[in-house]
Amino acid sequence: MGRSRIITIASCLAILAGALPILATFYMSWKIVETRKQTQLSDLAGYALARAQATFADATNALEQAKQLKDPACSPAHVDALRRIVVNTRSVEDIGYFDNGALQCSSWGKPANAVTRSSADITMSNGIGVTASLYPLISGRSPLMGLHSGSYVALTNPARFVDIPAARDTKLAVMAGTTQVVSTLHDPDLQMIRKVAAGTTPAGPVLHDTARDRDWTVVATTPKVDVFRDLGNDLKLLLPVGAATSLLMVGLVVWLSRRRMSLLGELTTAIRRREFIVHYQPIIELKSGICVGAETLVRWRRSNGETVRPDIFIPLAEENGLIEAITQQVIEMAVSELKDTLAADRSLHIAINLAADDIRSGHVLPFMARLLEANDVHPQQLWLEATERGFMNAAQARTTLEKARQSGHSVAIDDFGTGYSSLQYLQDLPLDALKIDKSFVDIIGTDAATSAITPHIIDIAKTLDLFIVAEGVERQEQADYLAQRGVHYAQGWLFSRPLPKAEFIEFYQDRQQAKGSAPEVIQRPEGRHAAGGATPLPRSV
Ligand code: C2E
Ligand code: CA
Ligand code: CA
Repeated sequence: MGRSRIITIASCLAILAGALPILATFYMSWKIVETRKQTQLSDLAGYALARAQATFADATNALEQAKQLKDPACSPAHVDALRRIVVNTRSVEDIGYFDNGALQCSSWGKPANAVTRSSADITMSNGIGVTASLYPLISGRSPLMGLHSGSYVALTNPARFVDIPAARDTKLAVMAGTTQVVSTLHDPDLQMIRKVAAGTTPAGPVLHDTARDRDWTVVATTPKVDVFRDLGNDLKLLLPVGAATSLLMVGLVVWLSRRRMSLLGELTTAIRRREFIVHYQPIIELKSGICVGAETLVRWRRSNGETVRPDIFIPLAEENGLIEAITQQVIEMAVSELKDTLAADRSLHIAINLAADDIRSGHVLPFMARLLEANDVHPQQLWLEATERGFMNAAQARTTLEKARQSGHSVAIDDFGTGYSSLQYLQDLPLDALKIDKSFVDIIGTDAATSAITPHIIDIAKTLDLFIVAEGVERQEQADYLAQRGVHYAQGWLFSRPLPKAEFIEFYQDRQQAKGSAPEVIQRPEGRHAAGGATPLPRSV
């Protein structure tokens, strides 16, 4: 079961690891091309706007000059002057003089046919009227734009605005105001252009950009990026990087899962060969400094002499249904190594870590009962520690914990404060002790904003009438603080690291002698769990 689960998970991860970098490469190339196109559009629209502004300024200037002319209207001198203005103004093709709505003369002289003055479609901010398309006298030319000022109309060629090199599918429209189209490039869809100019997003796969000032609006559009057609070069550059990353990640997944699989295989063998050893971390009564017990901490001593930390193999064992076998070996070892010491001092206890599976099945209880009986160790001398994960299934947890307490064991909630249990939930569980997680001990004496939480946890334990064990005490300052707050027990490097059997017994005896007599055995306090059994707890009060 373990192997096939690892293989399934690894396969899913490998597919993801392989696909994600490639997809990311596509996405990145696409974004790069799209950004580039968007910048091009913005440049294009800006350029066309600048041209419209320049032409308009030029033409305005020419009209002003014409209006200054003093010669009699349409006299040879007047026509001459108009021609000079036209020749000197690049963007103006012709200037006509109108009277009574009819063309009297232009820079070409008097008109051969009657020409009526068209009305302006729109008036610009400087008062000049604009007619979007006028047909010039010389036929066959594209429509021109008429600019009206006083009696004069200047003709300019708006094709200049969009005389810009651009890809065929890039389209451009220049509008006087926001709607009056005066010039286009590549025949854009004017309905869509007007929508963009009005600020509504056009439907369909199109990128667009708008440049505008008070008088002019320029809209540029181009079809959205076609991933497979437009990406070409960018993809060629990025794809090898994506592919290499994919390969690397797939390799990593394969390597990690093989390692995990072989670790799982080795762990299974280790259980069969009993490759585990137990260390004991002394638990100290803060008030007296006496060693009242020890937490058993398992280590895996591999055949090559290497020691594996429990953080690595305990979760693996838990995931693969191997933890109960390990728990039993730990209990067997601890009892067999310490039975004499435990028999000599009935106030001494050892604490065993139970996993969620142990609590769910409860198999550990009859196993312990037989073992303790056979080795003359009292059930009161075996404490059980369970994390909140072990209480996931509340009904089963309650059954096992209640049975444990009835047999005489004390039960502690481990790593307290790191889970999500509500106070109500804890209140309902049959518990005797609470172990404050190391993270809350670490912040004692620091000005971490959260340090207010430590006294809060101590108060919770007191409210629930639980004994308190503080974990991971490393500094005297922490021990002093905890003692002062009424915390009963502590363990941590300040007192001792986890020790092999012989060293633990030596530590324990030293502590007894140093402090004089052994702690007296007292009854579990008359609290909410008093009915659960009268387990003597070592405590010198
Ligand atoms: P835990 O039950 O919270 O055990 C306390 C851990 O904190 C131990 O690490 C201990 O060596 C370490 N520790 C104690 N005092 C200090 C200190 O002052 N400073 C620092 N930095 N660390 C300190 P260890 O032995 O590596 O165990 C890690 C975890 O592995 C345990 O956390 C427990 O969850 C699990 N574990 C260990 N033994 C067993 C076992 O027999 N059965 C089960 N189910 N889990 C076990
Ligand atoms: Ca523990
Ligand atoms: Ca803990």
